[in-house]
Amino acid sequence: MAAPSRAALLGAGVRTPRVSRLRRQLELPPKAAEGAAALGLSTIENLLEHVPRARREARTVAALSAGETATVLVEVRSIAARPVRRRGMRPLVEATVADATGPMQATFFNQPWLAKRYEPGTRLVLHGKYEGRGRFRVGNHATTEEAAAAAEEVSHYAASEGLSSTQILALIAAQRPVLRDVLEPLPGRLRARLRLAGRGEALEAMHFGSGAQEVERGRERLAFDELLFVQLALLARRAREESGAAALALTGAPSLTARWLEHELPFALTADQLAAIAILREELAGERPAQRLLMGEVGSGKTVVALFAMLRAAEHGHQSALMAPTETLAEQHFATIQRLLGSESVTLALLTGSTPAARRSELLSRLASGECSLVVGTHALIEDSVRFRSLAVAVVDEQHRFGVRQRTALHGKAPEGRAPHVLHMTATPIPRTLALCEYGDLDQTRLHERPAGRRPASTHVVSGERERARAYERIAEELRAGRQAFVVCPLVEAGELEEGVESSAQARAATEEFERLRAGELRDFRLVLLHGQLGHREKQAAMAAFAAGEADVLVATTVIEVGIDVPNATVMLIENAERFGISQLHQLRGRVGRGEHESLCLLCGPKGSPRLTALARHDDGFELAEIDLRLRKEGELVGTRQSGTGNFQLARMPDDEALLMSARASAEALIDADPRLEQPEHALLADRLADLHGEIAAHPIAA
Ligand code: ADP
Ligand code: MG
Repeated sequence: MAAPSRAALLGAGVRTPRVSRLRRQLELPPKAAEGAAALGLSTIENLLEHVPRARREARTVAALSAGETATVLVEVRSIAARPVRRRGMRPLVEATVADATGPMQATFFNQPWLAKRYEPGTRLVLHGKYEGRGRFRVGNHATTEEAAAAAEEVSHYAASEGLSSTQILALIAAQRPVLRDVLEPLPGRLRARLRLAGRGEALEAMHFGSGAQEVERGRERLAFDELLFVQLALLARRAREESGAAALALTGAPSLTARWLEHELPFALTADQLAAIAILREELAGERPAQRLLMGEVGSGKTVVALFAMLRAAEHGHQSALMAPTETLAEQHFATIQRLLGSESVTLALLTGSTPAARRSELLSRLASGECSLVVGTHALIEDSVRFRSLAVAVVDEQHRFGVRQRTALHGKAPEGRAPHVLHMTATPIPRTLALCEYGDLDQTRLHERPAGRRPASTHVVSGERERARAYERIAEELRAGRQAFVVCPLVEAGELEEGVESSAQARAATEEFERLRAGELRDFRLVLLHGQLGHREKQAAMAAFAAGEADVLVATTVIEVGIDVPNATVMLIENAERFGISQLHQLRGRVGRGEHESLCLLCGPKGSPRLTALARHDDGFELAEIDLRLRKEGELVGTRQSGTGNFQLARMPDDEALLMSARASAEALIDADPRLEQPEHALLADRLADLHGEIAAHPIAA
């Protein structure tokens, strides 16, 4: 499949697909039908759109190496069911199969009937694992006729219990002519400009293409669509919000903010912070509600930037709110803001789930009257009972932890008919490509620079008993010099962080480590324990003790990730560091190196781990995020917190960055010209967008 020329595309005859053929239901025997349903395949169109996960060359028997998962094309020589001797044993069928390079023993499990079905002489496609010494454990199988002739390359599909990859290939081969009826969602002009193959052709290339290049061309076209539709959904949402309520334009001359910037801030802003503030100043002056994502690592100084926006609201007599995902974070922001305000008197308040009822109701009335101009809080801020007189600026910290609904609720707090300017902050550095997919509806600003005085923690991978003993010595040295240390206990159960809850097993592990260290390596020092299963009071007490220097060592689970600021802490030791993801380790590490002293991060784990090596080498979170993305692609088992996107079927980041940029540019052009995709040439585009991401007019897509 060569790239069609512009002339060929423009001159191509009109093809009218027979949609009825696409929409026909699949007809399958009951078990296969169940398998198809489990894969979400009910129509012929679904089947044709079920693109292979991979294409692999069929291997020859002689070339197989032990442990390899492979597909082979073979002929059955002899076959027999092996009697089951014990209860609980799985019925086996063993066959001698061979290709031109030699024979091997193939084993089929749980399908005793195969002994009759695959008579000697039958040609088979087998997919499975070569166990060495002439033994092959069959996963999927089909006769070669079923699987579309003796291809040298075989497509592999996501399969299910009742429907194997090889069966899917056979079904698609049978429906191949219907590929001509596949709908082309892209307007002809766009296709011609970008020289894109037709969608049907691209699907055909992916299923049946000969050679990697052809398959890749098909994949690119389909990946383009995938990316384009995500960008269309994001930009359509953005366009919708912009065409909705206007924001309060903060156009007045700076008074409070000018004073604050000049006299109250105890430090000089970094160039990144200044640039962010300049952009915000301009944006807040417009009626178009700002929707900006401020990305910067922990300690990069986002709060200062956010506070500028909040004070801008205050100096216009309006209000602002900062919403954080946890009470601890809300309390910290509140403290930071109080400190940053210096001697400026701005009426501010803290509202969380544990604000006492009396204080809460007093605060609510001060918010409703406008007397309180700046509030920091948790989800408690978006409860119905919370009313603002005039909310102009909303700051949402760690935006990825908030659902769409909560964000919408926040919007509802602005005066009737107005939308707040919204600034989202995230400390999770996301690779550029993913940020564009995940937060492509927001303008983005990055704070790269470390504020002056921040030094990266020197990071080492600690492996083996001797290095570990040395690590505790180093910790002891620091402690004797009056510094403090963190010991972070590992994740115990898979998926702990994804669910955001810490398991009791992890709390137990932390407790054991605490006891062990207290009686062992660190017995000369004062240790405190912190984990998620402790009560609020106990957690506070542990953190307060550590912050006040009354404890030398904080043994903790990842709860400390949510932000302790103890500049005197100079060492962090992380147990089983390889169980964490890069970004999380980096974030944890950010808890040290916050003061004037050199700091140290000790990662206990295997020397060979590319993730730990990356952490030892790099300090820029954005750079680490890019490395993380590349490593993930290479299939390394990664620690828990996923970055949410990357859930593409065909697009691959960061490899497809150019494709993404092109999709983004095309989506921008389309939405600019036709924000609701109402023009007739965009009908199929709008249709498919609705199928994939919901109607433009309806809900925002789930981030
Ligand atoms: P973030 O919210 O990005 O984690 P913060 O805004 O809370 O970072 O800043 C972290 C700490 O660094 C705060 O104590 C803040 O006062 C300080 N800080 C922020 N910007 C600077 C700067 N430009 N120079 C020195 N210290 C800074
Ligand atoms: Mg902060």
